[in-house]
Amino acid sequence: MSEAPQGYQGFIQSGPDEATYMRGIVLFGENTASYKFALTRALLDLAEQQYTSVTLHELAPHFAGHILRHVRAGKVQGTMRSSVFLDAAQAHLDGQMNLEEFHAVTAQHAFRYVLDLYHRLPGGESSVQFYVQERKPRRLVLTDELLSLSADQRGQLTHETEARWHLVEHAWTQTREGHREARRIAFDSSSEELVLVPWRHQTRKALTKFRPALSGYQKGRCFYCFAEVDLNDTVLSHVDHFFPWSLGFRLTDTDLNGVWNLVLACAECNAGPGGKFDAIPDRRFLERLHRRNSYLIDSHHPLRESLMRETGGSAQERWTFLYRLWERLREWQSRSWNGRPTSGRPF
Ligand SMILES: [Zn+2]
Repeated sequence: MSEAPQGYQGFIQSGPDEATYMRGIVLFGENTASYKFALTRALLDLAEQQYTSVTLHELAPHFAGHILRHVRAGKVQGTMRSSVFLDAAQAHLDGQMNLEEFHAVTAQHAFRYVLDLYHRLPGGESSVQFYVQERKPRRLVLTDELLSLSADQRGQLTHETEARWHLVEHAWTQTREGHREARRIAFDSSSEELVLVPWRHQTRKALTKFRPALSGYQKGRCFYCFAEVDLNDTVLSHVDHFFPWSLGFRLTDTDLNGVWNLVLACAECNAGPGGKFDAIPDRRFLERLHRRNSYLIDSHHPLRESLMRETGGSAQERWTFLYRLWERLREWQSRSWNGRPTSGRPF
């Protein structure tokens, strides 16, 4: 197996641009509340509107608007027992506090920790920062790194942040409701959603759209050729089964619809001239899949639990699982696919 760094370190080291660091914060940063997601959305809004600095009172409505959308949906927004700010959000939704008052509470209480902690990543501060805090007067100066994100990058990051937010608030909601054992999350191919696999007598619950939930870990690029994929264009971006779905009938013990086996690919790699179709990818792609899965594991709940349950608790076990499956399926399907020319930086 290649010696490329696994997990978060590998994620940052390969192709580190501004968008990679923002993805690092969204996918890998520590968080006990959803504030990081709301702040990301607010920063992207401000960049789009070409702000170069904001006071906390100017930041508050942007931040609060995103939080309100999620609180309104009834999902738990953090692991802490109580929060002045989240209580105020609920009071506003219940008609007990007007919007102006809620924005004042936001400016006063919501930013106490998140502004200091936002750029903190596993292993230290992000070397790319999206704002600088000034104390007197208190305001954020938005950096060139934030303002230089392209409209396409901002769009991708917006979708990815929402998808990540949905998954994390789902995990918190489960914990709050006392489900100690993490339940399995799977891909529903008809709706292209990540779904919670139900206990008996329960209905399948859709968690979030699959493409944006996955694309951050591939930095918005095709798994095979690294071309940028447009999440909104289902003709040009495909959800691809790494081990072909058509071989699933050979396996009684392995579900090829597991997230560990699914990647985003461009239309040409998936089914264009010289594309993959039902072939098994070359071994170098197997190593890439292992690395991609290690990003998902390092990103913590809730996909991590499903991946570990399905493919192994340690990196070595997960590699052995993939490699054995690769060898086994190649007995049935010896044609392997060596990819198309790459067109972009690796992820
Ligand atoms: Zn491709």
